[in-house]
Amino acid sequence: MKISNFSVKQLTVLASIFMAATFVICYLTFRYFFTYDLAVERALTQQQEEVHRVKTLLRIQKNDLAKNLMDYASWDDVADYIVGHNDELLHDSLNDHSFSSLEVSGVFIFDPNVSLVWGRLYDYVEDKELSYQAIRYKFGALLADSLRSPTDKVTSYIKFLVLNDQPHLMATSRVCNSEGIACDKGFMMMIKPIGQEFSRTLRQATGLTVEIKTKHELDSFEHLAENVSVIEKLDYQNESTVFVEIHHSAKIPDFITWRELSAVLAFAVFMFAFNLGLAHIIVKPVKRARSALDSLMSGNASILTEQDSFISYEMRDFVYRINEVFNQLEAKQKELEWLALHDSLTKVGNRRSLQQYWDSLLEQRDQRHISLLLIDIDYFKPFNDHYGHIEGDRVLQQVASCLVQTPTQSEKFVARFGGEEFCVVLSSESKIDNQQEAEWLRASIAELQILHEYSPIAGGITVSIGVADCALQPFDELQDIFLVADAALYQAKDLGRNKFVIHSL
Ligand code: GH3
Ligand code: MG
Ligand code: MG
Repeated sequence: MKISNFSVKQLTVLASIFMAATFVICYLTFRYFFTYDLAVERALTQQQEEVHRVKTLLRIQKNDLAKNLMDYASWDDVADYIVGHNDELLHDSLNDHSFSSLEVSGVFIFDPNVSLVWGRLYDYVEDKELSYQAIRYKFGALLADSLRSPTDKVTSYIKFLVLNDQPHLMATSRVCNSEGIACDKGFMMMIKPIGQEFSRTLRQATGLTVEIKTKHELDSFEHLAENVSVIEKLDYQNESTVFVEIHHSAKIPDFITWRELSAVLAFAVFMFAFNLGLAHIIVKPVKRARSALDSLMSGNASILTEQDSFISYEMRDFVYRINEVFNQLEAKQKELEWLALHDSLTKVGNRRSLQQYWDSLLEQRDQRHISLLLIDIDYFKPFNDHYGHIEGDRVLQQVASCLVQTPTQSEKFVARFGGEEFCVVLSSESKIDNQQEAEWLRASIAELQILHEYSPIAGGITVSIGVADCALQPFDELQDIFLVADAALYQAKDLGRNKFVIHSL
């Protein structure tokens, strides 16, 4: 497959496809290595910051709960309650309002042997008592951290807990005296729900969609949506039971958006069309040159019009040059055509045009009268010998133009038959007065008074004329008529020259 076998249009289509594809590839490569990488990095950093923000808020919530629990656990009233069942504590400080203001749903008080002294699970939002049956036999495990903790200082431990299928925060502590020491009075536990209400608080504080789910609710880590992070939280048995799902506001950008892709493709298509248009304009003069070559063969060539505009200087120059060549060729062709039918010296017709003219008369075949006059310059050889050929040529020119210009009553055609012989064809719808016509021609040549000192009959150039009067005879071949005129001419010569003789057919 040679490249020269393709048309410019095909080559342009290939080049345009190549350029458009290269452009798209370059754009995508640039985007991948520079813009996209940076954008992803930036989004990931922002997402980490968002995770950090949520973690901080969770820590604050945990600290709040721990602080609230420690306030109670280092309160003599609680220790008193464990030993003496001080019911006022329940009435004054652990009532429905306390649950609501502490935002806790469960409070449990144990004696030093981890026997439940008092406990309540209460939905302060719905104002509903709840069952804590699910953890009733797990108190030992729930309090494990506090059981191991030293008794000299109040300390609280926060863990996550799934209770009644809902995520919760759980805080446990030893009960101490009001100075926060001597912590052997028993144990205390607070449970705080961290479901939808808590998620809303986090959302308001961080501006992010945060959902707290139990393991049961979270489908699967593998099928996590993009731009979502999950923080795994361990419960009191170190099992993953609670998950914090963060829907990031900072999104990892798409590698390329449909808008960008369509813009890139639109540009590629535009480039394609532009190149095609350009090729069309470039090829136009070449095509014009080709059609001009076609019309040159039919005799009319030009590839330039007044409305033509060109894409570049080179194309304009190219077209002007071709146009110039065509014009020269056309002029040469006209010259050749003229030379083919004329005698270059005398500018009258030649033998070929005489034959053509005769043929055209034959074609007409109407009732036309025809006469053929053969005219020979007298004593022309001596003229040439004495005055030279250049002067002789000048005489031939003068005689020819005189033959053309001499008035006639017929239609006249003049040709140089050869040497110093001319042929005049007269045609007319009416009868031709050959005497008159021949005399006019003879006399007008003589009246030119071209000096010819070596002519034995006169001091100037004269002609002898042989006339073949065809009248209305059916036309014959030119040669036959010519022989008749030639015979008449010889007779005129014999009669002394400067004469005409008429032979009728
Ligand atoms: P005649 O009266 O019998 O015709 O005598 P003539 O001298 O004209 O005799 P002829 O016809 O034999 O001579 C023709 C001469 O015409 C010969 C030649 O020198 C001259 N001649 C023919 N063609 C040309 C030409 O093209 N230019 C010039 N200058 N002379 C030519
Ligand atoms: Mg002659
Ligand atoms: Mg002669």
